[in-house]
Amino acid sequence: MTSIASPAAAETLSLYVGGKWTPARATETLEDRDPATGELLARIPLGGEADVDAAVRAARAAAAGWAATPVLARTRAVMKLHTLLDAHREELARLVTQDMGKTLADARGEVGRGIESVEAALATPSLLKGETLENVARGVDVETFRQPLGVVAAITPFNFPAMIPLWFLPYALATGNAFVLKPSERDPLPARRIAELCAEVEDIPPGVVNLVLGGREAVDALCAHPEVDAVSFVGSAAVARHVAMRGIEHGKRVQALGGAKNALVLMPDADPEVTVPGVMASAFGAAGQRCLAGSVALLVGSPAEQDDWRDRLAAAAAALRVGPGADPGTDVCPLIGPDARERVEAAIAEAAANGAEVVLDGRRGGGPGGAELGPTLIDNADPEGPAAREELFGPVLTLVRVRDLDAALAWQNRSRYGNASSIYTTSGGAARAWRAGVEAGMLGVNIGVAAPVAWFPFAGWKDSIAGDLHANGRDAVDFYTRQKVVTGRW
Ligand code: NAD
Repeated sequence: MTSIASPAAAETLSLYVGGKWTPARATETLEDRDPATGELLARIPLGGEADVDAAVRAARAAAAGWAATPVLARTRAVMKLHTLLDAHREELARLVTQDMGKTLADARGEVGRGIESVEAALATPSLLKGETLENVARGVDVETFRQPLGVVAAITPFNFPAMIPLWFLPYALATGNAFVLKPSERDPLPARRIAELCAEVEDIPPGVVNLVLGGREAVDALCAHPEVDAVSFVGSAAVARHVAMRGIEHGKRVQALGGAKNALVLMPDADPEVTVPGVMASAFGAAGQRCLAGSVALLVGSPAEQDDWRDRLAAAAAALRVGPGADPGTDVCPLIGPDARERVEAAIAEAAANGAEVVLDGRRGGGPGGAELGPTLIDNADPEGPAAREELFGPVLTLVRVRDLDAALAWQNRSRYGNASSIYTTSGGAARAWRAGVEAGMLGVNIGVAAPVAWFPFAGWKDSIAGDLHANGRDAVDFYTRQKVVTGRW
């Protein structure tokens, strides 16, 4: 078993295949660095067809036996994994901070949310129950059964390296599927640790959980492998679409959660004491690297009311502290790497070159690991231009000014994305009208990061998803099973 106490000086990570830790066949590797310091943590093999094939075959070999294991025994195995995850909460959170960069408080929240997903999956026996209808014709009864798909794969992004794998793994197992995880190649250490914990659960047989590492080639191989029955994906919109198209072309069931550009609607009657801290957390928490980040503040009202919001937001953002995630004083962590910082800085420069006013400029040279970028506030940008409409995935908040709630809704609903949105108001009527009209999947009322708890479905609308079933809750059980309807006469 590998150890993470110190992710041994630039160790090349192994894969977990058929219950064994094995070196990747791929020889090309990617460096995984601590975003705060630039320290080399590990080398990540960039697996392709051969590594994926080995993992998928191992999963296939285990799938029938696992599907035949009673649902209560499968659920108990997941419960044992929960006990281990719970015991390793702090260790996992520290690993998330080290590998992804977010603050420790944020990482603890992430790991907590991931563990809640395992708790929600313990309801699988209830959610798997079918329906019956007696006497649809004389002496004829109808009943439904849900059965596992077989081998399911999950492809996950860098920004929640512990939580997002846990959206899928516990449900896949409890519903009776064998599972192949391909985490982000940028920060797979938390996923590797989760796989190690799975290996400690004796009730999870070899081959039921497998870990492959890599990037695009591994993804393409998983989406085309004939023995993969379904693919769950979370990442950017372009890759979500690619995964959905490729997976469907190869006959798979696909749920692909994509990118976002979320607006926070600030009504003139909103309470600044609630609104300003909420907007700060939403726009700048995790340095804006969340699919639920509010990256546009829609200022509703008169020009004077809008200016007042801008001044309050700018003052609060200027007071945020930028630094390493492990430092308890940090509000805004580094981005995932220097390349991400450069990309976001280029977007800020482009907005400024096109006439936007950079009210607060967070560009500061990158800091020790080259990935730091301070909170940035952009005003008077083209409301249909990139700063207002494209996902920047950095600590950048763009202000868009609108006259009233109808104009706010019209502006929002022209977005290609529909992941999340929040409204800040003291008016129940405004909140209700907005809730009814806004085209997005996850909404917050006076809450800036309205992440649904694990007992509810998680996903957006429009280009923020390809496929229909969301992650978590009943949707997860539906996604990982197919139904049989039996019509019988005795
Ligand atoms: P990404 O799309 O770059 O990578 C996601 C996964 O796809 C990774 O495992 C990666 O290896 C793989 N990948 C990357 N490029 C690929 C390609 N060209 N072909 C095939 N596979 C490829 O996303 P990311 O940068 O890791 O994560 C950030 C993105 O994820 C943001 O757009 C964010 O909004 C989105 N996200 C969405 C949700 C949601 O619930 N909708 C949640 C978290 C993150």
